[in-house]
Amino acid sequence: MGHTEERTFVAIKPDAVIRGLTSVILKRFEDKGYKIIGLKMLMVTPEQAAKHYAEHYGKPFYDRLIRYITSGPIVAMVLQGYGVINGARQLMGATDPAEAQVGTIRADFAQLKEYNVVHGSDCVESAEREIAIYFKPEELCIDWKNMTELVTEKEDLK
Ligand code: UDP
Ligand code: MG
Repeated sequence: MGHTEERTFVAIKPDAVIRGLTSVILKRFEDKGYKIIGLKMLMVTPEQAAKHYAEHYGKPFYDRLIRYITSGPIVAMVLQGYGVINGARQLMGATDPAEAQVGTIRADFAQLKEYNVVHGSDCVESAEREIAIYFKPEELCIDWKNMTELVTEKEDLK
């Protein structure tokens, strides 16, 4: 079976930043071996929020979601790794922390789906779209290898 590296967009949401959970949440992804190729703190603009959550426009929770994501700084990142799109979402757990498996970020650090501490892209197309909302290509730091890449490149796994 072949293994291809993917990229995904992950954000530590304002509730988590305010609660001082930035480092512990970032560590979950870093410990998995995913390579951080983009990382910054920013205030999401109304325009970015509307683009990011366009699929939810018109839903009952939409206005509150936009207020939430623009309520304070987020820590935005681009992660690269094998199966990182689904893998990051598995580390995050279900949208509703009450339904998330213990050991996932949302289960361990959140109680309500309206304040679920973390975002992750759900497919390749979303990942490309969301990365472009928050990062310019030149902001990505791609010219290095993390330990996972150094270890896994030693054998031909294809
Ligand atoms: N959300 C909410 N109420 C809901 C569903 C979603 O407040 O009933 C928020 C929540 O912050 C969630 C985001 O909207 O993370 C996007 O929803 P989605 O269904 O895409 O969940 P995700 O992909 O983040 O797990
Ligand atoms: Mg989603």
